[in-house]
Amino acid sequence: MLFLNRKTPERKQDDLQRTASLHSLPWIDDSYSPSGSIFDQERAAVAKRVCGSIECESSRISPWRNRRRPIFEDRWGCSGRCILSMVRAAVRREAVEQDASHSMPHRHRVPLGLVLLAQGWITHAQLQLALETQRARGGRIGDCLVQECGIEPAQITRGLSMQWSCPVLSTNGFMPRAMAIVVPRMFIEEFGLLPLRVAGSRLLYLGFEDRLDASAAFALEQMSGLKVESGLVSTEEFTAARQNLLEYEGVPVKTELADEPDALAARITAILEQKQPVASRLVRMHRYLWLRLWLESGAKKSPNALPHDREDMMDFVFTTGARS
Ligand SMILES: [Zn+2]
Repeated sequence: MLFLNRKTPERKQDDLQRTASLHSLPWIDDSYSPSGSIFDQERAAVAKRVCGSIECESSRISPWRNRRRPIFEDRWGCSGRCILSMVRAAVRREAVEQDASHSMPHRHRVPLGLVLLAQGWITHAQLQLALETQRARGGRIGDCLVQECGIEPAQITRGLSMQWSCPVLSTNGFMPRAMAIVVPRMFIEEFGLLPLRVAGSRLLYLGFEDRLDASAAFALEQMSGLKVESGLVSTEEFTAARQNLLEYEGVPVKTELADEPDALAARITAILEQKQPVASRLVRMHRYLWLRLWLESGAKKSPNALPHDREDMMDFVFTTGARS
């Protein structure tokens, strides 16, 4: 009797803690913590984790099942079928976003030469010469102005930033090792984007050389959970920083061809079931679908979703037939 009287209040307290922790712990850390109550709360939250599939039909899930993984887009799937339904929805969502970005009208931009002319930074004669050079040799008008008319490269960058209504970013504080694992190397090479640094663990600065890529910035925002601030970087700084970044290894990446959506969803489900990630996410980057896996929660120490270390991370990049 004495035993029961002593146990009951403690049990109630424990239930309260479990309920509270369910709503306050989006990420579960695997790290061992000998006697901390936070660890107990996390374990309780994992034990009560419910399947994230809206089509889930299992009313009773085996209590011994591991609910720590696999996690796809913050949700745990109780079975292969439930993971597939979550992945299918994500694949459909990314296809819709692709269509939406294509139906958006291209915003008209004032040609760079006219921007510079309006600022009084070049003369009519200089613009004429640069345009003739461009017609004859090709290339970018900015380069022709620098080479043929002696315009300062910094002025070209400022003109571009006015044309794109975006800031000029400097590479001061550039973190090449950390930035090398932000995005697969193939995107840096193909889309001319360059992650520069994270400010206050909320803002990711993304540099471009001569044109912004809103679609790539959006994808990175979805993947990182950070607000992305895009801007232009002078050619000289951009080239040096990019070279510096490419000296570091990125997250291991596997590229595959994507078939039609159902086959792709099945393939991604198989990957999740095999790799059992503690976190994963799918975003579209132009004609690619990028699946990122956090294989151990040590890779996810920071509050944002940027990888902490390339170890225990894995990227899959699926090439779709869609236009970019
Ligand atoms: Zn389920």
